[in-house]
Amino acid sequence: MSTAYRDFHLQPIAGEWREGGSERRAEVTNPFDGSALLDIRLADRSDLDAAFLAAEKAQAEWAATPPSERSALLQRVVEIFDARKEEIIDWLIRESGSTRLKANVEWGAARGITQEAASMPGRVHGMTLASNVPGKENRVYRKPLGVVGVISPWNFPLHLSQRSIAPALALGNAVVVKPASDTPVTGGLLLAKIFEEAGLPEGLLSVVVGAGSEIGDAFVEHRVPRMVSFTGSTPVGRRIGGICSGGEHIKKVALELGGNSPFVVLDDADLDQAVNAAAMGKFLHQGQICMAINRIIVDERRYDDFVARFVEKVKGLRVGDPNEMETVVGPIINAKQREGLEAKIATARQEGATVLLEGEIDGQLVPPHVFGDVTPEMEISREEIFGPLVGIQKARDEAHALTLANASEYGLSSAVFTADLARGARFAQGIKAGMTHVNDMPVNDEAHVPFGGEKNSGLGRFNGDWAIEEFTTDQWISVQHAPRAYPF
Ligand code: NAP
Repeated sequence: MSTAYRDFHLQPIAGEWREGGSERRAEVTNPFDGSALLDIRLADRSDLDAAFLAAEKAQAEWAATPPSERSALLQRVVEIFDARKEEIIDWLIRESGSTRLKANVEWGAARGITQEAASMPGRVHGMTLASNVPGKENRVYRKPLGVVGVISPWNFPLHLSQRSIAPALALGNAVVVKPASDTPVTGGLLLAKIFEEAGLPEGLLSVVVGAGSEIGDAFVEHRVPRMVSFTGSTPVGRRIGGICSGGEHIKKVALELGGNSPFVVLDDADLDQAVNAAAMGKFLHQGQICMAINRIIVDERRYDDFVARFVEKVKGLRVGDPNEMETVVGPIINAKQREGLEAKIATARQEGATVLLEGEIDGQLVPPHVFGDVTPEMEISREEIFGPLVGIQKARDEAHALTLANASEYGLSSAVFTADLARGARFAQGIKAGMTHVNDMPVNDEAHVPFGGEKNSGLGRFNGDWAIEEFTTDQWISVQHAPRAYPF
């Protein structure tokens, strides 16, 4: 048995675990009971600088290591994930308010992308192309980008950091991570301990803990990172995208942003299956998932039946201590998010939605709220909810259901239920989203399948071959074998 990792008040910066240089400190608390988990001195700009410069220095040698060595490193990380499964899950429950179920799902997803990344070094390949110039040979080399900056959110911190860190490192890059302020351990520090134990050379992975509002711009604007991989809200993503494409240093950017997933139930759907999928796709992690169902759209011929069954199912979901096995709905991450949800509940009532299910808010525990007779103009339809609230809309027919499904500025995930699979696939093709699931919930992520959004949900794709594309770049090298005849 390995001893549990400790000393998370220190940050791995430029190959050394040390305190942040800022005068400011932050306390990290358990969202369920408010208990203190960590008191940490934050990183400042000089820490950022040190982290990026060390990464730049270490990267060239790392990129030159044989692919098998980088694969073996990633494989050791997978083994540590297995050996420390309970420790990782325990941190996810305490720091991010994950239920046991969600913590297991997240551990599995982060392990999965690490396993996938272990195969990436051997999958990178270039190509040769014929030339129109006599005697010339065109070669295209695929190379690492250099240093990648990763910024992640608090909802799936371990996975959403690791889905950039693992492929980026596997492909020969160095990485600096800025985890969310609510989840510095699961979003970065814990992963740094794991990579260190696996034998990652010094300086290749630094974690800087600080508020996005304070060090965010300096992180993104820094000269060294050639790419910023950002997962978080659309407003912050817009700002980061603007800096990367219009700032002093032009750099690549991957943006995985907010969502507003429609869940469509057509007139021929299996309602029992649809209800089960809707409950899981809405209430896993209290609805704090970018792919979570935001709008349920039901054909009017099945509306009453669906509503009755869905409300009955949701009534039975246990709300409470996320550490208890039976809990389905745990705490909301922080007071600000909870207050935002309270405001959304009040607005839904004011706008005339019918309250089908409600409950008393107790501390950070927000029980499921279900609203009926919801219209596309209401705030709970237009905005990303990111909590255990949902509105149900009525569709006149299939065409109307598609119009309602597409009535959003977002286009991350989506789902449709129908007994006719050809109809489902046809409907799915009409949805403007990066991901659509027929007869399943919109919450899906597989390490080898492209993950990402359309419209204001983002730019770029994660996982599998798509991650190889994101975290590398092409260099055209032409070789003139015979002297070229120039016109002057
Ligand atoms: P957020 O407020 O955008 O924060 C995300 C990260 O950005 C945090 O690390 C945050 O740091 C940092 N940040 C804030 N302001 C910044 C700035 N000016 N410059 C650089 N970094 C800055 O989002 P969140 O509330 O943590 O996460 C929820 C959102 O993420 C939802 O909209 C959800 O849909 C989205 N999300 C998307 C995906 C996807 O794959 N598409 C997955 C999960 C979540 P601080 O914590 O210090 O503020």
